[in-house]
Amino acid sequence: MLKIGCHLSISKGFLHMGKETVEIGGNCFQFFSRNPRGGSSKSWDDKDIEAYIAFAKEHGLAEPLAHAPYTLNACAADEGLRIYAFDTMKDDLQRLEAIPDCRYNFHPGSHVKQGAEVGITKIADVLNRLETPKYKTTVLLETMAGKGSEVGRSFEELRAIIDLLEDSSNIGVCLDTCHVYDGGYDIVNNLDGVLKQFDEILGLERLKAMHLNDSMNPMGSHKDRHQKIGQGSIGTETFAKIINHEKLQGIPCYLETPNELPGYAEEIALLKSLYHQA
Ligand code: FE
Ligand code: FE
Ligand code: ZN
Repeated sequence: MLKIGCHLSISKGFLHMGKETVEIGGNCFQFFSRNPRGGSSKSWDDKDIEAYIAFAKEHGLAEPLAHAPYTLNACAADEGLRIYAFDTMKDDLQRLEAIPDCRYNFHPGSHVKQGAEVGITKIADVLNRLETPKYKTTVLLETMAGKGSEVGRSFEELRAIIDLLEDSSNIGVCLDTCHVYDGGYDIVNNLDGVLKQFDEILGLERLKAMHLNDSMNPMGSHKDRHQKIGQGSIGTETFAKIINHEKLQGIPCYLETPNELPGYAEEIALLKSLYHQA
């Protein structure tokens, strides 16, 4: 079964996101744990979550993916900003305990002139202090496009973070197709080779989610501009190869393409039509 869905707004609650997912033909969804532009977290409603859990069970929804605000920077030079990232992630993880089978994805951070090595050390420090194994939710590092001073632009950089963890048993990776292509990984001509590299460096067992996005830019551009599926430099054929790849079965896929709900419904229908696994 293809696990496919898209990014949705949490503003109307969990049950609403579940219903929207079914309406557009999907079976999983991603949401921001809070307003991505900062600000206070929404108080999550227990009744709404309870109703969502029943709905998800009834409709066979797959793993939801919470996305941390992308304004967090766990490797900021400023200690206050790092504390803020830690506090926000801790609060998110505590609230996510109420959501079954959830994963929590975050952008590792931007080192801003400190150098990747310093950035990696600071990110690992935040993760160590979070004590991630305490939580049911698996924490995912997202593969980044390498825009500016983003850390996580290569599999090696993510590996270096994981290597500094006291306990990495509850840490995974979310592979963003636009980001890895922008980062210089040729998933169009050599998907098998890229997955082999991923497996050798990070281990495919760490791959817990994928963001399916086409890219507006050529391979290696480090730009991070998402495009609709089939309208960018990656192309429909590659997405067909990805969703059907034997090593990628069962991994939930989330669209983060520039779309409203009708556009997402079309993309989900397209991907389902291209899916030919059992
Ligand atoms: Fe992201
Ligand atoms: Fe992404
Ligand atoms: Zn992106």
